[in-house]
Amino acid sequence: MHDYAIGIDVGGTHIKLGLFDSAMQLLAEQSFLTDKDATALELMDFLALKARALAEKAGIRLEDVRGIGAAFPSSIDARKGLTLESSNIVALNDQPVRDMLQQRLNLPVYVDNDGNVAALAEHRYGAGRGYDNMIYATLATGIGGGLILNGQLYRGMHGMAGEIGHMFVSDSTGYPCGCGVIGCVHSICSGVFMARYAMDRIKEGAESRILDYAGTLSNIDMVAVGRALQMNDPLALEVVNRGAEYLGRMFHSLNLIFDINIFVYGGGITNLGHRFTDRMIASYRHHSLIDQKYPAKFIPAELGGRAEIIGAALLVP
Ligand SMILES: [Zn+2]
Repeated sequence: MHDYAIGIDVGGTHIKLGLFDSAMQLLAEQSFLTDKDATALELMDFLALKARALAEKAGIRLEDVRGIGAAFPSSIDARKGLTLESSNIVALNDQPVRDMLQQRLNLPVYVDNDGNVAALAEHRYGAGRGYDNMIYATLATGIGGGLILNGQLYRGMHGMAGEIGHMFVSDSTGYPCGCGVIGCVHSICSGVFMARYAMDRIKEGAESRILDYAGTLSNIDMVAVGRALQMNDPLALEVVNRGAEYLGRMFHSLNLIFDINIFVYGGGITNLGHRFTDRMIASYRHHSLIDQKYPAKFIPAELGGRAEIIGAALLVP
């Protein structure tokens, strides 16, 4: 019986796999560190090996798996099964990942990007349950997302919709981004670039506890920023408020385009807590004229680190 589905999430830091039954109960899961130096061939061999091992661990024959859903941290042409641009794992650029996995496992494979599958999962089983329209945003090392329109994941003309992290929001600040511009949301508000901004401000001479918590300049990350924030460190506040301001602008623009003001947000940066998310929501409300009439809902994601494997498994029909 083809009762099972495997969801794979290839992340910049971790690779996760989950095996689900037809009621989407998680039967087995595993997590590995991502080998960023691996070639695309090595990575696909690894995924196939671990998918087989996962089925074995759960006592299920691979023939009884209906299919594999796999999420990648890249722009994806979901229809052709291609990864296009992957700033996190360069070896994945322009690879026919769907066919590569299909050949290795002899099972139907469905691919999408990590933001889209997390949106699917949150919509079906998480914070977006019951909403016909919602916008999901991952606020983490990178900024990504997915759009649920009329109850369906909206993929656009090439299967690439929902890349909200590369919306252009400033021509006065930001770092060069893999998407080709300076001033996209990711280049200002992602964990990696917020930390870079903190680092540069300290290099310029700003006094901050962030450096005490990080130890060295190159160790500065959002955990150190978050600890300094708790101590009311002025630079930590500046870093966080700057990121929150531009995220609010991003949500405002999204609402103008789609007339959707149900926003589900998750990801590691939200560990900064209410001072960050309150400021982000305040920025949205400040910019949105219609928010008083139609107040937006900002809802924390519910599925945590499992959203991507759940959503990847949901790709399997
Ligand atoms: Zn960008």
